Amino acid sequence: MKGLLSVDAALEVLLSGARPVADIEDVPALEATGRVLARPQRSTMDVPPMDNSAMDGYALRLADLQKSNKLKIAQKIMAGSVGKELSRGTAARIFTGAPIPPGADAVVMQEFCAVEGDEVVVKKSPKPAEWIRYTGSDVKKGGEILPAGKRLLPQDTGLAASVGIKTLPVFRRVRLGLFFTGDELAMPGDPLPPGRIYNSNRFTLRGLAELFGCEIHDYGIVPDSLDATRQVLRRAAAECDLIVTSGGVSVGDADFVKPAVEAEGSLLMWKIAMKPGRPLAFGKVGDAAFIGLPGNPVSSFVTFLVFVRPFLLKIQGNSNVEPRSINARADFDWPEPDARREFLRVKWNAQGGLDLYPTQDSAVLTSTAWADGLVDNPARQAIRKGELVRFLPYSELYR
Ligand code: AMP
Ligand code: MG
Repeated sequence: MKGLLSVDAALEVLLSGARPVADIEDVPALEATGRVLARPQRSTMDVPPMDNSAMDGYALRLADLQKSNKLKIAQKIMAGSVGKELSRGTAARIFTGAPIPPGADAVVMQEFCAVEGDEVVVKKSPKPAEWIRYTGSDVKKGGEILPAGKRLLPQDTGLAASVGIKTLPVFRRVRLGLFFTGDELAMPGDPLPPGRIYNSNRFTLRGLAELFGCEIHDYGIVPDSLDATRQVLRRAAAECDLIVTSGGVSVGDADFVKPAVEAEGSLLMWKIAMKPGRPLAFGKVGDAAFIGLPGNPVSSFVTFLVFVRPFLLKIQGNSNVEPRSINARADFDWPEPDARREFLRVKWNAQGGLDLYPTQDSAVLTSTAWADGLVDNPARQAIRKGELVRFLPYSELYR
């Protein structure tokens, strides 16, 4: 659209200036979930470190079963202990996780056995190697277990622990400054005089910043004045890596973000070809990056996910900033698409398709809470029921 910048062009400018925070710190693996790994991790050991049983049962030599299905129970091996070499014609009572005794080549599960005195009767012969977990079958010594640039999930720290890693090198947390412009804003719990609204963006944006593991500096509501805006900008720039604000980036009389950032640093003002969320500001104050989001609650939510998210992920050190999308079936019609790329609030239904929230107005925050994600719909593209659309689930956008 004329005079408007495409989402992709804006993202390119935004991301080309994003540098990962330089500082790396070692944190206990127990506390590393949610952090971004700064160096690849290799294993110095095999996992499992020894051949062991995957079942409660009996370890035996298959060749012995050719002669008789009755074997003497010569030893008992519990998890955490070590057996001895299996003598011919004998079996070892064995439990899940216990080391396979030398000489054994299969485990028969106890459900297929009967015990008669000090002998076990094997009613169903196991296959070769059955129920044996071999050394290194999960992780090989020297192999990479986790790549650099990965945001660690609980299972990643578990994997690190399984090879004995106690601390992990991660990028330091990004310091994210937030403030909210608008003389109309009040906080829940405060009275709401005529003309006022509650500052919902503070909750939405701060919640998002928390999900992404930021160190949050929340400067609260800033009055619509140039002085107040400049003052908080200076403070935030000294304390933060990135400043994200809501409101005040239009060109109305009360929109002081633009002149304030220009006075304290430098600024690009964009009109983005997207809906919701046309105005967006991007700049720098001191060493801090600045992203000014529109005030409309749905717009600030969507622009955070579309622009702040990848920028933040990149400065956090994540190697992957593109959200994964799914081609999903629209169970709705969208006959009058906008001339701008649209991000529609949709919900997954039990039939595996997507339903549309009936009101796609950028002030209707209910749509975002009802939805499971966004449909990324190209400009001017009508959607007919049954067609595939590009679906960005929150579950992918939130990681
Ligand atoms: P602005 O971008 O400042 O022109 O604001 C656009 C719209 O969003 C106006 O209706 C504002 O009242 C509303 N708005 C601005 N900031 C917030 C906020 N923090 N929470 C909820 N609504 C807001
Ligand atoms: Mg405003």
